[in-house]
Amino acid sequence: MSTLRDELTPLIGSKSAKPLATALDITTVGDLLRHYPRRYAERGDLTEIAGLETGEHVTVLARITHAARRQMRSRSGHILEVRITDGSRELTCAFFNRTGWLAKQLQPGRQGLFAGKVTAFRNRLQLAHPEFELFDEHTSDVAVDEFVGEIIPVYPSAEGLPSWTIDRCVQQVLTTLEIGEDPLPAEVRAEHGLVDLETALRAIHRPPDWEALRHARLRLKWDEALAVQLVFAERRMSAVARTAPVCEPVAGGLADEFDARLPFTLTAGQRALGKAIASDIATDRPMNRLLQGEVGSGKTVVALRAMLQAVDAGKQAALLAPTEVLAAQHARSLGELLGDLGNAGELGAAENATKVTLLTGSLPAKRRKQALLDAASGEAGIVVGTHALIQEHVSFADLGLVVVDEQHRFGVEQRDALRSRGAEFTSPHVLVMTATPIPRTVAMSVYGDLEVSVLDELPAGRSPITTTVVPVAEKPSWLERAWQRVREEVSGGNQVYVVCPRIGDEPPADTGSKRPPVAVLELAEELENDQLAGLRIGVLHGRMSPDDKDSTMRRFADGKLDVLVATTVVEVGVDVPAATVMLIMDADRFGVSQLHQLRGRVGRGSVPGLCLLVTEAVEGTKTRQRLGSVESTSDGFELSRLDLELRKEGDILGAAQSGSRSALKLLSLLQDEEIIAAARDLAQGIIARDPSLGHNLELAHLVTDLVGPERAEFLEKA
Ligand code: ADP
Ligand code: MG
Repeated sequence: MSTLRDELTPLIGSKSAKPLATALDITTVGDLLRHYPRRYAERGDLTEIAGLETGEHVTVLARITHAARRQMRSRSGHILEVRITDGSRELTCAFFNRTGWLAKQLQPGRQGLFAGKVTAFRNRLQLAHPEFELFDEHTSDVAVDEFVGEIIPVYPSAEGLPSWTIDRCVQQVLTTLEIGEDPLPAEVRAEHGLVDLETALRAIHRPPDWEALRHARLRLKWDEALAVQLVFAERRMSAVARTAPVCEPVAGGLADEFDARLPFTLTAGQRALGKAIASDIATDRPMNRLLQGEVGSGKTVVALRAMLQAVDAGKQAALLAPTEVLAAQHARSLGELLGDLGNAGELGAAENATKVTLLTGSLPAKRRKQALLDAASGEAGIVVGTHALIQEHVSFADLGLVVVDEQHRFGVEQRDALRSRGAEFTSPHVLVMTATPIPRTVAMSVYGDLEVSVLDELPAGRSPITTTVVPVAEKPSWLERAWQRVREEVSGGNQVYVVCPRIGDEPPADTGSKRPPVAVLELAEELENDQLAGLRIGVLHGRMSPDDKDSTMRRFADGKLDVLVATTVVEVGVDVPAATVMLIMDADRFGVSQLHQLRGRVGRGSVPGLCLLVTEAVEGTKTRQRLGSVESTSDGFELSRLDLELRKEGDILGAAQSGSRSALKLLSLLQDEEIIAAARDLAQGIIARDPSLGHNLELAHLVTDLVGPERAEFLEKA
């Protein structure tokens, strides 16, 4: 008999266990049984070929239409070319070994499963020497022994691990599986109509019918929702146990002074939000607020007014940005907004001025030392830095408020680190700002411990941005026209960003047969010599020294550069009103939200913005669909929904660590709102009675299994 926590090797032998461990990080029975089929093929239903992406490992159910063996021209031996179909599109498979034997098997008309990596050759999709498993000859609608049911599970596979190999391991494990106590108590299952865990796990791998599969998925979704909500419930519990520094407003203080000097009127949204934040931070209950506001909606001013209130109360404020370029830009623009209110210690400073200090990891030693000193002594009222400020345990005299800009790069874990910064039971108020709108269910699950506010009105006088896909595979001449447009824009006195996925001086990555993505350094050189000869071109990327980055950004902002060729370091927050065009090379390498962020860099002045998405992705692929959606809508909310759907939620609990698996395999944050809400209530009650799950060991196991031990630290070691 085996349980979920048993090691796999003794059960299935090391020959099978090893590839599972190396390729998929599967080592226990639980790992294997929670490696759910990606989809199911019904006998007779062929897999749609149109949706396949190059680079993917896939298993497809297809029919052979054509097989031809011929002598190779360039070297000795034969090649066997087999074409398989889903009924409308074809996929070519090439075999180089044992072609005589294979040709006897791979006869036109036969059906089976084919597994391999999708590649493209002369614009046609290929599976290079795939592994295959054919169904019984002549009667493709009758099961071969391997596939008992009518519904064939198709697993996410990896190299050397085709779906049916995983299927056999699962089958073996299921014969001995015996799950003891169910983590979900019987009354909860009864209330929500859920099957027990063992039934669910058996049915998801070997569904007797679609109805049983639906029940299995529902139950397993509940496990995921509950595990995640237990973690959040605990976070909320421990958060309310802390107190925060009281930052009461001071009449006639810096904040008032600043308001009096503002060169524009605040929007109604900015005013209302400012009020809410002001009263939040005036209490000792830690504020945890997420501020969503479209790119350009004026979040920085809102944050600055709150920071000034903290300073007025004798506390410090920290502003964290995701990159050094942004931190530098923030420090500069805060300085400009504050004027002599931010010049403490300098000649001509206002009477009650404070000091804005930039503190980043790679400042020259002397400046960094001074900045550290300013933070520790309290000399600096506002410290601007990257997230490293928190991770490196910089000390503050009296930190009252932390503002985190562009949350999508900042996970729950960092926020936890932040909370534990204060004295043992205090934590600063936290304001997290993001331009990536987050659907309600996601906010509820991911930011279950945050209050969410939205800034939905743009300051007057913003210009629209037009987005156009430039498909070089179909319309190569469009790229030439794009460079032409760049030259026109520059001669009209405007500026242009060109964004590339790669810097270009890194060691060549293994990209298989694909060409590596366009690189900043290489493209800049090409443009200088060719398409954009004569223009003033600068480069910006993450491997430049902070001073170099800063001075390049400044030259661009001052109009001393026409074109900035950059990596995504320009993604967030950079504000150059004369920049009107953004051209993104290999746009398919970026996520939907990232593209939306990027294009928000243009159209900040009075001239309408233009964003060009250059791609080699061909029409009809998912990749092109994604770019198409960025092209068709500028509604950030709609896009983040699409992004979520396409990314399958990714790792909602925090910064995705490479190699660590997502807690959510089945649960959809968009479609399973009811489950999430019910699980949230249940979790709240459980944690209130048993905060460390010491009396609910099976649930504790569920949390560590699904969420990972590092995120479930609160659990009593079971
Ligand atoms: P984001 O929300 O993208 O961070 P910013 O805070 O950078 O936006 O604001 C973008 C620009 O709009 C800045 O130059 C800022 O000074 C300006 N701005 C902010 N609020 C207003 C307002 N109420 N009226 C006019 N301009 C504003
Ligand atoms: Mg911003």
